Amino acid sequence: MRDDAPNSWESRADDYSLYGFTDLPTIHDRGAVVLTHGEGPYVVDVHGRRYFDANSGLWNMIAGFDHKGLAEAAKAQYDRFPGYHAFFGRMSDQTVMLSEKLVEVSPFDTGKVFYTNSGSEANDTMVKILWFLHAAEGKPQKRKILTRVNAYHGVTAVSASMTGKPYNSVFGLPLPGFLHLSCPHYWRNGKPGETEAQFTARMAAELEATIIKEGADTIAGFFAEPVMGAGGVIPPSECYFQAIAPILKKYDIPLVSDEVICGFGRTGNTWGCQTYDFMPDAIISSKVLTAGYFPMGAVILGGELAARVQAASEAIEEFPHGFTASGHPVGCAIALKAIDLVMNEGLGQRVRDLTPRFEAGLAELAKNPNIGEWRGKGLMGALEAVQDKATKTPFPGTLSVSERIANTCTDLGLICRPLGQSVVLCPPFITTEAQMDEMFEKLETALKKVFAEVA
Ligand code: PLP
Repeated sequence: MRDDAPNSWESRADDYSLYGFTDLPTIHDRGAVVLTHGEGPYVVDVHGRRYFDANSGLWNMIAGFDHKGLAEAAKAQYDRFPGYHAFFGRMSDQTVMLSEKLVEVSPFDTGKVFYTNSGSEANDTMVKILWFLHAAEGKPQKRKILTRVNAYHGVTAVSASMTGKPYNSVFGLPLPGFLHLSCPHYWRNGKPGETEAQFTARMAAELEATIIKEGADTIAGFFAEPVMGAGGVIPPSECYFQAIAPILKKYDIPLVSDEVICGFGRTGNTWGCQTYDFMPDAIISSKVLTAGYFPMGAVILGGELAARVQAASEAIEEFPHGFTASGHPVGCAIALKAIDLVMNEGLGQRVRDLTPRFEAGLAELAKNPNIGEWRGKGLMGALEAVQDKATKTPFPGTLSVSERIANTCTDLGLICRPLGQSVVLCPPFITTEAQMDEMFEKLETALKKVFAEVA
């Protein structure tokens, strides 16, 4: 794949770019995939090769890579008012309209929105809001943050501390006061003989024991993705949120739903918390918020929390936080269009229509003796590779099985993502039935090839 000439795109990428979240020995060997443009759900590289992007970019490009309506919304806003901030009581009309719209489509009756440039910054902002609020309410020691092992909440120092992945130890993270509860993955973490209901009860008991041990007055909030995305697409165990939400309420610990991936349709409803039937105190949104056409994140505070933050801010005369591009008018105009596509122009419905075919495709591939589990919700799914299906024994990490599958898929013109021992799929909402079939055919070819090599 790699063109080794010194002036090739691969060499230039290697020489001047610091790759993030990339296996460096493999990339130096194979060469980066350098892309020029997209056509619907496909991306095209500098050599003219087309790839179906079964990861929607990074879960976000749900309307594909050449959506005219989104590009036109951006162009019209660039022509009208190309940039502004949201400091000092000034903001663009688009920002006002988007906040109104976000509260309207949220599960909250009332609420308030704060903008960032990314999901990481939105989680960071939410933590600062909670620290600010509790201190203003006379509880400055209420600062610890609870999340789960395998959670992904971002990469800034605070959101990486919330992320429950071992790789953050290379940065000396997590920071003190960031605690990780067990991952509610019944298939992998259930004990022998334990029913799913018993497993969920164990997760809830662990939460309550942790709150009692740490002291409820030291815990600022609990953050959870409805379906853990970058943890490997892990839906919660049965009735997990119904079990933990009342405990959090009992101890006055706000529940924050990190909907950066689940938000705006991915799980079949507008929000993941609707799919799993729980009411958070706040929502974190990003990615699909602008269908990937602009970097933007948002904290949506439910009415009760918003009123408390408002009161706390008035006591010290301001809420001292914000980014230069918070509530950028072009981002807001694009987000208004993206929300319209999902809610009124059929893209949300498209997820519901495609889900049975998607699930059937995953279930079919899971018949492979080296696939231990398929799992997913709506248009996000994963296949977990195992060496032994009966005992769920994983392949040795040194075999890099999921990376090999993903690399073989890339060679076949299909982009999918290795995560741990799993391969993750989250195709764009505009995917056709024929494109979905092609995606599964290519993945099946790759699975057969790789398992024949390693099994
Ligand atoms: N939260 C969740 C659930 C995510 O999946 C991600 C990114 O994948 C983030 C937060 C961080 O978002 P960003 O990469 O925009 O900082």
